[in-house]
Formats: sequence, C-alpha cells, structure tokens
Amino acid sequence: MTTLAIRGGTVLTASGAHAVDLVVRDDLVDAWCAPGTAPDTDEVIDATGLHVAPGFVDVHTHLETVVAGVSTADDFASGTRAAAYGGTTTVVDFVRQGPGEDLLERLGDAGERARGRCATDYGFHQIVGDVRDTSLAQFPRLVADGVPSVKLFMAFPGDLYSDDTQLLRAMRRAAELGITVMVHAENGLAMEFLRERARERGDVSLPWHARTAPPAIEGEATRRAILLAELAGMPTLYFVHVSAAEALDAIADARRRGLPVFAETCPHYLYLDVAELDRPWEEGANFVCAPPVRTREHRDRLWWALAANDLSVVSSDHCPFCRSTLFPPERRDFSRLPGGIAGIEYRVPLLYDAALRGRLPLARFVDVTATSSARLFGLHPEKGSLVPGSHADITLLDPRGVTRTGASDHHMNVDHSVFEGLGLRGSVHAVLLRGQRLVQEGRWVGPTDHGRFVPRRLGTDLYDRRSVPGGADSDADAAVGVDVDVEADGSAVMRVDPA
Ligand code: MN
Repeated sequence: MTTLAIRGGTVLTASGAHAVDLVVRDDLVDAWCAPGTAPDTDEVIDATGLHVAPGFVDVHTHLETVVAGVSTADDFASGTRAAAYGGTTTVVDFVRQGPGEDLLERLGDAGERARGRCATDYGFHQIVGDVRDTSLAQFPRLVADGVPSVKLFMAFPGDLYSDDTQLLRAMRRAAELGITVMVHAENGLAMEFLRERARERGDVSLPWHARTAPPAIEGEATRRAILLAELAGMPTLYFVHVSAAEALDAIADARRRGLPVFAETCPHYLYLDVAELDRPWEEGANFVCAPPVRTREHRDRLWWALAANDLSVVSSDHCPFCRSTLFPPERRDFSRLPGGIAGIEYRVPLLYDAALRGRLPLARFVDVTATSSARLFGLHPEKGSLVPGSHADITLLDPRGVTRTGASDHHMNVDHSVFEGLGLRGSVHAVLLRGQRLVQEGRWVGPTDHGRFVPRRLGTDLYDRRSVPGGADSDADAAVGVDVDVEADGSAVMRVDPA
C-alpha cells in the first residue's frame, strides 16, 4: 500500500473551489483534510498555488479509425498520450460499424487494438452505421460489455447514414434497454443535394464546405431527432458536436419540456471562425470538420448555452488528419476530404484559459470537461470526481502557467495546429492516473500503457427517468408512455399517457 498527500492546493470540483489537502491511498482518493492536517504519507506533492482537479474526461474521440478511406493520424497509444499531456485521464472512443459490418466484431476488434496500448483509461461508444435486425439484436450485449451508448448518423448517405425508419427502430430498442442515443444531427440528404449542385458548378474550394452545410441543415436534423425519439419512447438523447444556434434552439425547447436531451460542443466551435476556410488549401484544409465551424454569432450562442447548461459537455471530437498534402492540386475538392479536427490535447487548456479569463466559472469548467461528461455516461463517481473512493485520477493545473498551442508544442501526431498561436493562460502542471504520475511539468514520467478499459454503467445520473413526460413507469414501460395514433388523413397525433 502506498499513500500520497497533495497539500496546499485549491481543489476544484463541479461545485466550487475548496482549500483542502487530498490523501490518496493506492489508486483511490482516500480523504479530504483541512489544510495542514493530512496524516504522514509515503509521498507528498506540494500543490501550493495550484488547482487540483479531477482527471478530465473526453467522451468523444476517434483514435485509429478510418474516415473517407483515410486513417486518423493518432492511434490508441499516441492519442491517449497526447490526451494525458493535455490533462485528460479518460477517453471514450467511437467504435465504427460501417454498412455490412458486424457490430460486435467491430467492438471486439477495437478492444483488441486498444488493450495494453493506452496511456489513459478508456471506454467505447458504438457507432451503429447499419441499423438492421442483427445489429439491434446485439444491443443487449453492448450493455453487458460496458458500452451502453450508441451513435446514429443523420448525415453521410451511402455510409453511416440512417433514414428515419432506421432512427426510429434503433431509438425504440435503445429506449427499451436504457441505452443512450448519441446523434450526429445534419440532414445528410439535403447536404448531399447542395454538394451535388456545387460540384456541378465546379464550386469545390474550401469555403463551399461550409456553404453546403448551413446552420439550418443542423437545426432541422436536431429537431427531427427529438421528434423521432419522442415517437420511439424517448431514450436519453445526446447531440454530439453542436455548432449552430438553430440546433441549440431545438435542444433548449426539448429541455424546457422536461425531455432527457443533452448536448456537447467542441473547442473548435467555441474558438474558430468559418473565415478559416478562406485560407489557401494547404492551411484551410485542416479546418474541415462536420458540422463546419461557423460565425461569431453562433460561437456567442454556444458560450451562453454552456453557461446556461443547455450544453452539458465540451468534448474534443479529436479526429486528426495530416490533410494538407492529401490530394494533388487537380484533385482538390472539399467534399473528398476526411473531416475532423485534432484537439484532444488542447481541450482542457482552452477551457481552463476561458475560466481564468472569467468567461465561465471555474466550477463550470470542471463540470463541462470532467464531471458532467462522467455523469452522463455512467463513469461517475469513479471518474470526473475527487470524492473519497473515486479513482485517483488527478490533474494539477497552474493558473500562472502559459500553454503554447503551436504544432511544434503538442504531442498529437499531426503536422499542424488549428489553435496555432493563441497564448493560453494556465498550464497542466502534473497528471496522475489512478495514483500513478504520468506527466510532470510537460515531461512524460510514467508508464505509457497503464490505461485500462472502463466498463460504463447504463443510463445517466443527470436525469431521473421518472421525470420523462409519461415515464412514471420508468425503464421498459417508458417506451410506451407516448402513444401515436395515425389519423384517417395519415397525420400522426401523439398522445402522452398520463399513467
Ligand atoms: Mn466525431
């Protein structure tokens, strides 16, 4: 048994800042002590002047996966190491089921590849890119295997796309089992229509990436996903990478009606402007992601929504590519580019800087980058918390430090930084995973393969299912709390069963 005290720091939690000393016993947080009263321990970390935060939790990453025929640049080893340099100690990565592929085979394969190669702890979400009977029949195994969340795509027809019938079927099955449904909400058919026209005109330069995916494309899909979820018995919904005010409006409306609807945004939507796509191809190509980065008005709305809790989480959506050299000049067409931003290492520093500048409270910073992420996805209180008994995943932050955001400063396996030259306030001082130090003042000092698979519990502790309109019977019966009658003219009328 080894014991460790972290003395003199300010412990940050989702509820505030606390002047306490922490005692760690082996891999768990053991106790909080009034300053100076911690018992003698094997080791002491002097945290004077530092913030002591729960290890951060990134619930949206794409490591070692293939997008548009190109593999992401970070594998499980390099991606989780970069995550830890950036203060993150747990990632939840997406396992991709493409058309015709077997769900559980893909999950098993990801588990094999990740095992023994991760620097941080990790879990999985399952992308369901082929909603059919066999996939749906495998949903209970996802729950049993600690992967109780699926992601459905309303974009990318011909690939991961689900039509409304498939969305309804998958949502219905998820509602019955208590599985959380994550949604990529962009109207893929409308977007493809706009892109076809653009290609016909020869409008294949980078700015057309955003012009062919306007905010309404995201707003419509978000609203439709909520409607379909209600018809399907209202599983917990989680909208990934929200970028547009129109989508926020739909989410806020649903939350005001008491529905279990949650959402995240990502650092690139909070910090980057659509004008980045006006850069020359070699630079601008690195800013292509789906949905596209947007204008100042949308960014302001995202910050407000974070403060107001209409957005619960900030995830990286880390999906790294070295894209600038991917296509020769004659084949440079925005619609052929694999989309995605490298941000796993910068997510925490960017949001910490925002907190230090007063853009969001320190407690809210911890909430959206660690605690709510863990609570929404069945990882709390082991992760995202420093209460006694939780994993001793601890990130020490230095509010007087400085973080450089250039390509030569980071550890992600990409040749560029979309956040180049921001000059962030604050820095990651040290990172512990289950009591073991990984990073100390910018140097790697621990094992690189200490990360373990973390099975996640079903459901979310941010929402009580008994609050779902008509959901008093909870779990399986919640799925029939809403009845749909089809009228003679074919229109659907929704009836909420008061029982
Ligand atoms: Mn993603």
